[in-house]
Amino acid sequence: METQSPHIVNSKFYRKLKGGKIKCLLCRHYCELNEGQTGVCSVNKNETGQLVNLVYGKVATLNIDPIEKKPLYHFLPGTTALSLGTVGCNMQCSFCQNWQISQEKTVLQKDFVAPDQIVDLALKYKAKTIAYTYNEPTIFYPYARDIALKARQYGLKNVFVTNGIESAEVVKDMPGIIDAANVDFKAYDENYYRRELKAPFTVRETLQLMKQVGLWVEVTTLIIPGINDVPEHLKKIADFIAQKLGTETPWHLSAFHPDYKMKDRNATAVSSLEQAYDIALKSGLKFVYIGNVGMRKNTTFCPHCHKALIERLGYQILSDKITDGHCPYCHTKIPGIWN
Ligand code: SF4
Repeated sequence: METQSPHIVNSKFYRKLKGGKIKCLLCRHYCELNEGQTGVCSVNKNETGQLVNLVYGKVATLNIDPIEKKPLYHFLPGTTALSLGTVGCNMQCSFCQNWQISQEKTVLQKDFVAPDQIVDLALKYKAKTIAYTYNEPTIFYPYARDIALKARQYGLKNVFVTNGIESAEVVKDMPGIIDAANVDFKAYDENYYRRELKAPFTVRETLQLMKQVGLWVEVTTLIIPGINDVPEHLKKIADFIAQKLGTETPWHLSAFHPDYKMKDRNATAVSSLEQAYDIALKSGLKFVYIGNVGMRKNTTFCPHCHKALIERLGYQILSDKITDGHCPYCHTKIPGIWN
């Protein structure tokens, strides 16, 4: 592996201001950076009036994962994704399960991994997709973008697993580069985002924009006891998804496990997830899944004839009956990316 000088970000993702200051356009923090300053994420920096991405080519975590683990359930089921992340994040969630990399402020990785090398690895391990995940990928979008453009030349798809505070500039750049996203909708509460996550509450705008530009979108909510498990609160998220994104949008209800700075509460009870599941169905959502609770069965049913179409056990596909994107029994089109 080679080392490489710092990566200067394409000028479409930052704006020059007066006095050598620049404004980073990679996420909705829109940090205004003086010379030598890094933003909230710690990995984008003003160097001599240019935006430099300090984690370009500096991979902190790399794995082959089932696509179901992202989770994406309506996207090439039963295939794998070469999954990568860097250090840094633009949120500070006290329950982060990847805090060792996301909250790391120093780029410790010495080796430079070129976009070509990532694509070669994906092809070598027969992954169908490259997933930008583990920490928030919009903070390393310049790297993800270069990998994705190369990956597409080999027929690979690209997905974001994200907290939803991408800038509009990044989301509008995604069509033809990024195919799908799983977006965390952490709470329907502006104060919670500002106070606890140290980030703007922009996930609704991002989700709607992603849908508008044509990305396949699935939503995940980590249900945390005492934080966002109140039925009225969950109903607001379910109604938003149903009314603004469409009832065909999959919603993943994920169990919390004590981690990082939030070790003072219990893991989410299955009954709490099932209550959220019922709320989602009442709001009209057609594809609702419960996750992160061990080897649980999760089935995709045809919304018209209600026959089981994809049966999963944990991350494993037990059966997949979807045929050319349709239910084989009643021929209803099933939303998603199937090939
Ligand atoms: S990516 Fe976001 S947090 Fe990082 S410098 Fe840019 S605007 Fe700030």
